[in-house]
Amino acid sequence: MPELLNGTTVNGTHGVVPHSPVQEPEYGEYRSVIERINQRIQSGDPFYSLEFFPPRTANGAVNLVSRIERMSEGGPLFCDITWHPAGDPGNTEKPTSSTCMAVTMLNYCGVETMLHITCSNQDEEDIKRNLKKAKDMGLKNLLALRGDPPDGGLTWTKQEDGLNYATDLVKLIRKEHGDHFTICVAGYPTGHPECTSYAEDLRHLKEKVDAGADFIITQLFFKAETFFQFVRDCREIGITCPIIPGVLPIQAYQSLRHIVKLSRLEVPKEILDAIEPIKDNDEAIRNYGVEQAFQMCRELLKHEDIHGVHFYTLNREVATIEILKRLGMWVEEPCKPLPWKQTANYSRCKEDVRPIFWRSRPKSYIYRTSNWDEFPNGRWGNSSAASFGDLTDYYLFYLKHKPPKEDLLKMWGEELNSEQDVWDVFQNYISGCSNKDGVKVRSMPWNDDELSPETGFIKEQLEAINKRGVLTINSQPNVNGAPSSDSKLGWGSPNGYIYQKAYLEFFTSKENGIALKKILKNFPMVNYHIVDKSGEADYTNCDLTTPIAVTWGVFPGKEIIQPTVVDPIAFKTWKDEAFELWKHPWGDLYPEGSQSRKIIDHIFNSYYLVNLVDNDFPKESCLWRIVEQMLEEGKRTTSTPEQMEVNV
Ligand code: FAD
Repeated sequence: MPELLNGTTVNGTHGVVPHSPVQEPEYGEYRSVIERINQRIQSGDPFYSLEFFPPRTANGAVNLVSRIERMSEGGPLFCDITWHPAGDPGNTEKPTSSTCMAVTMLNYCGVETMLHITCSNQDEEDIKRNLKKAKDMGLKNLLALRGDPPDGGLTWTKQEDGLNYATDLVKLIRKEHGDHFTICVAGYPTGHPECTSYAEDLRHLKEKVDAGADFIITQLFFKAETFFQFVRDCREIGITCPIIPGVLPIQAYQSLRHIVKLSRLEVPKEILDAIEPIKDNDEAIRNYGVEQAFQMCRELLKHEDIHGVHFYTLNREVATIEILKRLGMWVEEPCKPLPWKQTANYSRCKEDVRPIFWRSRPKSYIYRTSNWDEFPNGRWGNSSAASFGDLTDYYLFYLKHKPPKEDLLKMWGEELNSEQDVWDVFQNYISGCSNKDGVKVRSMPWNDDELSPETGFIKEQLEAINKRGVLTINSQPNVNGAPSSDSKLGWGSPNGYIYQKAYLEFFTSKENGIALKKILKNFPMVNYHIVDKSGEADYTNCDLTTPIAVTWGVFPGKEIIQPTVVDPIAFKTWKDEAFELWKHPWGDLYPEGSQSRKIIDHIFNSYYLVNLVDNDFPKESCLWRIVEQMLEEGKRTTSTPEQMEVNV
């Protein structure tokens, strides 16, 4: 393989392959975007970033969040979201606003995020407020822009007072917030359309950098040579910061025309000639766009002064991912640093322990702990140290796709006739099989995400108990020293070992709950917590002030890392959330007074929530035996008068 100028190698048939994967920061250490860019420049490991724009509808926002989550799996250095002055961009109460999207990307998608922000035709006090809001919400990166004339007008007019150029905004950000933000500014490889000359535009670009910008992302262009010339010209006048080329994969004829019109760019004749004959064939245009962008990126990345590429994704994923894969730049992290996905919020970079209860609802946990100043220390810390926020307004931040009511009814039952119908829904969810109407149960109220891969190890046992009324909402198998590189169980740095205690959390009938309490006397190595909705029934053998480590890892040259605990105090907060999920969203699907609603209400009112930890992790777990005995014992007491009362 030929060695390239920037230290990367070209793989004959494919693309640019990093030859020394860079060490991304571990938890506990925050590195700003400009630090990361500089590190990549030094290591010669090419990087990329992805640009999105805020969607028009809340549903669109939900879908975009899922897309960004998927695209962040490929390892972008950061993602950015554009600023649309007409779309109330600073309004964090609005799911489609730029700031709300940015905060969601940062906190819930776990991706380093850059918010675009414009300044022209805006009140300076509003700009200051928006900057402060961005800072308060954990954002650390801004793309500072002037913006275009309002309402799509072509002529921009200078305001008497107020900020007129991006330079003014960069100065304001530095004045108000010092070095808190990494600041990016826009560059124009063929000159900004309004400038009197290319040379003058370059001078203004230098002013932006001199005012405090850290790096430049450029307007799109169509030929690598255009960009090379631009970089040479920038260097000549003393612009030394990183300059990242903005690349637009052509995805459709109409969108290309629209973008070109907006940016007042000229498309080279050979591109027009190539797409004209295929303009009605979307697939052919996209294939052409992928090939054209791939070839251009490959050429760009061979240049000694170009170390990364910025993609204008147009909120689509297929073309960009394909280009990145062909370039060899789509790199899925082989091992996550911790068993749960961290947020990218710098204020949480020291977070290294979480209660296991929210493992299937990480976004809810992040939301409820977003006001914590300090996160518990993982080794022996107490995760109940801070109080949990309530769930008000959670929906704004919880932008995960919520299927429409009709889809939920198809999954969870149009009509419930007995508790067994509910148990079957749980069993179908675990098994992945279709229900009697041929529909797969893809999600449950207690799960943000799909079942974790490790659930595969205990799937059969889970299925068997769910269909008998042990409704599991969280579980993990015991693990005794799996390699940290294990594809299902692994996390943390290489050559380490992973340990877990078997854990089971479920709803079950009151009779089973009472039977369980009796049986557990014979299992001294098991910690338990059994509660009802009101907390009147509340049985545990845990020390209320001591969290139990249930997942830990041992790594060469490091302290033991203990990222997941069962924390008795946090369980009380979780319990309320877990019970509430029966009513909203499940119970809400059925009319008041209907049999289906009564069944859900009955479960909500009478079932117990249980968690069990088997501390004897090197041995085969006893939890299945315990559950079996509980079911046997519970059966004997099901027809007590007490039970008759709660029956529907
Ligand atoms: P500036 O750098 O202020 O330059 C604007 C013009 O003024 C140029 O012609 C420049 O030469 C000239 N100029 C600069 N300083 C002076 C001076 N002191 N005296 C006289 N002339 C001067 N728009 C949005 O609305 N939202 C977005 O999210 C957004 N994202 C973008 C991202 C990128 C990467 C790019 C390239 C553009 C983006 N735009 C966005 C479009 C951008 O707002 C427009 O291109 C706008 O016309 C210029 O913005 P600017 O920050 O480059 O302006």
